[in-house]
Amino acid sequence: MNNIIDTHAHYSSRQFDADRDALMAALPGGGVAGVLECATHSGDAPAAVALAHRYPFVRAAVGIHPESLGEEDAPTVAVYGGDWRAELAAMRPFFEDPAVIAVGEIGLDHHWPLPAREQLELFEAQLQLAAELDLPVSVHDREAHAETYALLRQYKPRGVLHCYSGSAEDAVWLAEQGMALGFGGAATYKGAKRAAKVLAAVPRSAVVLETDCPYMAPEPVRGRRNDSRNIAHVAVRIGELWDMDPQQVLDLTAANARRVFGAWEGGTPPMPNIVCKPSIDRTEEPSMKARIPKHREFIIDFPKDVPAEKADEGWDKLMGLMEDYKKSHNGQTVYSPTFIEDLEPAVKELQAQYGFTYTIQNSK
Ligand SMILES: [Zn+2]
Repeated sequence: MNNIIDTHAHYSSRQFDADRDALMAALPGGGVAGVLECATHSGDAPAAVALAHRYPFVRAAVGIHPESLGEEDAPTVAVYGGDWRAELAAMRPFFEDPAVIAVGEIGLDHHWPLPAREQLELFEAQLQLAAELDLPVSVHDREAHAETYALLRQYKPRGVLHCYSGSAEDAVWLAEQGMALGFGGAATYKGAKRAAKVLAAVPRSAVVLETDCPYMAPEPVRGRRNDSRNIAHVAVRIGELWDMDPQQVLDLTAANARRVFGAWEGGTPPMPNIVCKPSIDRTEEPSMKARIPKHREFIIDFPKDVPAEKADEGWDKLMGLMEDYKKSHNGQTVYSPTFIEDLEPAVKELQAQYGFTYTIQNSK
């Protein structure tokens, strides 16, 4: 298998000290096409960025993890005495580095006894930072769904909710507002019924894969030190759920990761001004929408007098149109500024058949 993109890794952790270089060098041979190395504080950020400079398939996310507020040896405590604002200010220069493509790992954690207000303020400040820098985020949410979602609703970042552990319902609206959901080893564990439910409900365009290595090794290597090559096992499990070949799962999720992070496209820098994220939101029937956030969008509406069956069929055709368009652009997110012009003739044809209306709008 190949085209593995690991959207959440910690290769700078000490569990890799003994053989880091040998392991990193072996990853491409194991099918790994991309890694997002996530820092957790100012202490490991330089190592994360150094990995991204050393290995062309590695990019870095820089941020302060909520657990760093409670770890005595994390610089957030040891150097800054809990003054995360000062630490974050000191980390600003990292974001001028083109190898740093995201703000992460950031989020909320109620599993460990961490100061509630501080972590909330820290997360919010980093969401503001991501908005200011127009960067995606890598979000950690452990037993803190309600507060995490409230801030995600408020700031509407793009990025990944890593190791997604919420409900299927929440997965759907998160995907609609532009978040991808990260799945890794946990999705392969026996009793991962919730993950199976979520994977069945969520649009596949919102699913990305990850390790969170050195932790969370999937079955059948559970309990061992994890690395990005093991994502192949996750693809096998998701392939069972989706009735897809594991390689197809890898290709699809890799395309999603490339779109979300604007990276791993053969070294091409992201083009934030014309990047479009084709996503089709199926909202309440019989009114449906197809849109590209931050770009122009088709607003498609099936009037109430169109029978549900016919609307369904028309909708499927529209979805197919979008899928074909993506395929004609290397199966990746379309970087096309002529998306509307390209698709309009075909949309018009379907309109004549299925009786929907459409308008074209500029979306932010
Ligand atoms: Zn992590």
